[in-house]
Amino acid sequence: MVISKGPLARIMEDEEGFHTKLVHGHEYYDEERGYFIPPIYMGVICEHPDRETGQPRMTDRGTELKYAREENVTVESLENVMAKIEDAADALAYASGMGAIGSLLLSMIRPGMRIVVPMEEYGTTIRLMEDLRKFGVVVDEVWPDTKSLVDALSRPADIVFLETMTNPTLKVLDVREISKASRDAGAKLIVDNTFVTPYLYRPLKDGAYTVLHSATKYLAGHNDVLAGVSAFPEQGTARAAWEWRRMLGSTLSAFNAYLVLRGLKSLGIRLERESESAMAVAEFLRDHPAVKNIYYPGLSDSPYKGIADRIFERRLYGAVVSFELKGGRESVLRALRAVRVIKSSPSLGGTESLLTYAAMSASGPIAPDVREKLGITDGLLRLSVGLEDVDDLIEDLDLALKA
Ligand code: PLP
Repeated sequence: MVISKGPLARIMEDEEGFHTKLVHGHEYYDEERGYFIPPIYMGVICEHPDRETGQPRMTDRGTELKYAREENVTVESLENVMAKIEDAADALAYASGMGAIGSLLLSMIRPGMRIVVPMEEYGTTIRLMEDLRKFGVVVDEVWPDTKSLVDALSRPADIVFLETMTNPTLKVLDVREISKASRDAGAKLIVDNTFVTPYLYRPLKDGAYTVLHSATKYLAGHNDVLAGVSAFPEQGTARAAWEWRRMLGSTLSAFNAYLVLRGLKSLGIRLERESESAMAVAEFLRDHPAVKNIYYPGLSDSPYKGIADRIFERRLYGAVVSFELKGGRESVLRALRAVRVIKSSPSLGGTESLLTYAAMSASGPIAPDVREKLGITDGLLRLSVGLEDVDDLIEDLDLALKA
């Protein structure tokens, strides 16, 4: 069997549309048999194809295809799509989003480095950052808005790590401005773009050093696979991260890579539909008598709409809506018990709509007084809007809020 860049992949240039890249960007083609869907290569090892010289096949990043903790053809196919849609030189796939974050940070940190992070981020990321202090890095936790981050970067720094849209109160950060400030401060900017996806925004275009995702969420999109990816504008930086993926063994499995590849093909149309539904749900919740506060950057009165309109490539604002109930914790627990179509569960970004008690799950590591100031109160719920009919979602929410 000969694996090659397929005929379509060969003619793909930068001007190919986003959806075409999602579908064909894997570059897999079996020239002998004509198969153009990448298979799941479960083999951990392979023979060197050239028996004369014993030379292994080399990947585009200059590594040898010989052992699945390092390279695998199915994983490589996924990485090809990711590199294309992020306009990156290279991409790496990991066993989870945290696998991507942890491996990347460990490849970069040195004692004495200063890392700047907003204080509102995914809880396990915050916990990881705090634990990194034991390796002698200084972690500066900053108020999660553009100005505070830019101010914090008036002093030299080494790494800035942020989420484009914070979890769970959906504060949109002006990554373009923070990227400029990071460069001036001598810092490398890492963007966790999980909530936003490359369909809405690509931080590498604005000078980020790396973009990464929990692919468990929108990229895979079906609540059935755990995965992470990172994409790099330069081959050299990808190679350093690759070494740490190999040393830590945080590589994605072939089977899970296949599921992400399959899910990715519909990323654009899923996100479009889910974002439109999210907007309708947000408008419904804004006017609901049981709702005290609503957080959705697409609403005309959201303080983050301006930033989203400036940096996002489409007039879509993502498919997560957070809202605070007037009745606090008691109302939240009643609503979580009452939903029927929507599942009361953590996570986001899949075909099934999920309702999450934010203060109890992802934001756990944030100190209670800081959580309160950030808006992560006992009454806060986070809704990930899936692919169900929006009328069913609104009816479900209405019944749950009446409960
Ligand atoms: N980054 C963000 C913004 C997340 O929401 C999550 C998980 O919810 C992660 C990273 C970690 O991803 P994973 O659960 O795939 O390890």
